[in-house]
Amino acid sequence: MAAQATDKLQGLDLNGQNGAKAETPAASQATPAEAEDDSDDDQEEGEGAADAGASGAAKKKKKRKSKKKKKGGAKVQSEPPRVPVSNLFPNNQYPEGEICEYLNDNAYRTTNEEKRYLDRMNNDFLNEYRQGAEIHRQVRQYAQKNIRPGQTLTEIAEGIEDSVRALTGHQGLEEGDNLKGGMGFPCGLSINHCAAHYTPNAGNKMVLNEGDVMKVDFGAQLNGRIVDSAFTMTFDPVYDPLLAAVKDATNTGIREAGIDVRMSDIGAAIQEAMESYEVELNGQMHPVKCIRNLNGHNIEQHVIHGGKSVPIVKSSNDQTKMEEGETFAIETFGSTGKGYVREDMECSHYALTPDAPNVPLRLSSAKNLLSVINKNFGTLPWCRRYLDRLGQDKYLLGLNNLVQAGIVQDYPPLCDVKGSYTAQFEHTILLRPNVKEVISRGDDY
Ligand code: MN
Ligand code: MN
Repeated sequence: MAAQATDKLQGLDLNGQNGAKAETPAASQATPAEAEDDSDDDQEEGEGAADAGASGAAKKKKKRKSKKKKKGGAKVQSEPPRVPVSNLFPNNQYPEGEICEYLNDNAYRTTNEEKRYLDRMNNDFLNEYRQGAEIHRQVRQYAQKNIRPGQTLTEIAEGIEDSVRALTGHQGLEEGDNLKGGMGFPCGLSINHCAAHYTPNAGNKMVLNEGDVMKVDFGAQLNGRIVDSAFTMTFDPVYDPLLAAVKDATNTGIREAGIDVRMSDIGAAIQEAMESYEVELNGQMHPVKCIRNLNGHNIEQHVIHGGKSVPIVKSSNDQTKMEEGETFAIETFGSTGKGYVREDMECSHYALTPDAPNVPLRLSSAKNLLSVINKNFGTLPWCRRYLDRLGQDKYLLGLNNLVQAGIVQDYPPLCDVKGSYTAQFEHTILLRPNVKEVISRGDDY
């Protein structure tokens, strides 16, 4: 999910220093060696009778291949993904993300004993995050391989959500289960001029088209440690420069981020990277603009928007700094339109307001719905489809009542002008005491 800017003015102190720089591209070893193989192949090769007529060379080749796959009776991820990652990593040690050493004034942190000690104290937190990140990588790998034009947004969203839930081992159908693990927020599938917060509601028949630019934004969480990461899918190479711009901008933001770094400095660096690109569509050149009223954000346990924003343009004079131990979603949005989004179309995303007012509710349907929300989602965001799968129906009146009372916050889709194209890339980073970890990094983005 993305945070929306509130266009606020702050102080004007501008001699910043970048705290950190990416150094070691780790994180590509997303899956254990055993999980790299296709499980399908194993079965085909096991039924040897059909091999009878094959040439000697072909036979030999096949035999070698199948030997490699049988190694250690290893468990592999299924297609679609349904094997909980806790079964694939039995000792509960998940791959680390990309590790970046702190630089300049913060270089001491890498070797400082106190910082290393503080870091070790956080082992459960780190492992929950790494588990969520591994789930995100495995699910998105499947999504990237299998999403095709012609599919409905509903089947795409459900395909991703069913996979995330299965891999966390939490179906989220019993009270409290979804708070232990599952989706971190609804799977966003925002198309073309729509930049964020779109997911189908029940009955939505929208189909993905060949010429579409689709932002796939989903979160996986264990114990409320939300990994928020997004990518953009296209099926026509004309959009490649748009995607390259946004990928570069997001990686620039990740590189600049660090302890004691000012938000305004990160925004400026992101904008400079993004706006050095242009894209040609139908014979017309378009500069790639940052969407200035969308932001990255910090993440707290069970809370996707922790209250700090990471701007993606330089004009914000935000003197707020990133701090040790914080988690941030670094996300940038590029657009061929105005570079400004407004709320449009039917709302699907909602979350309990963090400090919800204790207003008496007269409507019994609102009271009942609030109880369902509290027990199943707490402060995690959810969408209407998640209420449907819990067996709720005819809840719209109650839901609107909760929104009007300020107890539930609605997050309508955010769109640039019609006819424009928007793209997004996003990673979650941990500002650990001694290193910065890009927890959701994979070899795809
Ligand atoms: Mn986000
Ligand atoms: Mn997101």
